[in-house]
Amino acid sequence: MPSAILPVSPLVAGLKCRCPRCGQGRLFSGPLNLRERCDQCGLGYAFVDTGDGPAVFAIFILGFLCLGGALIAEFKFGVPWWVHVLLWGVLTPIFAVFLLRFLKATLIALQFKNKAEEGRLAKE
Ligand SMILES: [Zn+2]
Repeated sequence: MPSAILPVSPLVAGLKCRCPRCGQGRLFSGPLNLRERCDQCGLGYAFVDTGDGPAVFAIFILGFLCLGGALIAEFKFGVPWWVHVLLWGVLTPIFAVFLLRFLKATLIALQFKNKAEEGRLAKE
């Protein structure tokens, strides 16, 4: 464990998909699978609860980008239907995974920074 951990910006940690505490350890072990803990500072990721947040943001952002791109391709360039199928059928899942990684990492970093957790009626 590093001797002094400097605060990490949630946006930087999200963009790099790194640990929200130290900013060094990797957050994911696969495309979207979280590790159990940070391999640099040992922070356990059991507190993580992003729910559907990243998916909702990704749907809105990706829907706007892909629909806009499809409309531009259709009405400005007049591409045939099979180009749409190839273009959006390949690009949309790739964009979705990268966007979900970034959004999930950013929401985890924000959850860590703001100490967000489920509400309780009494303190333990
Ligand atoms: Zn860490």
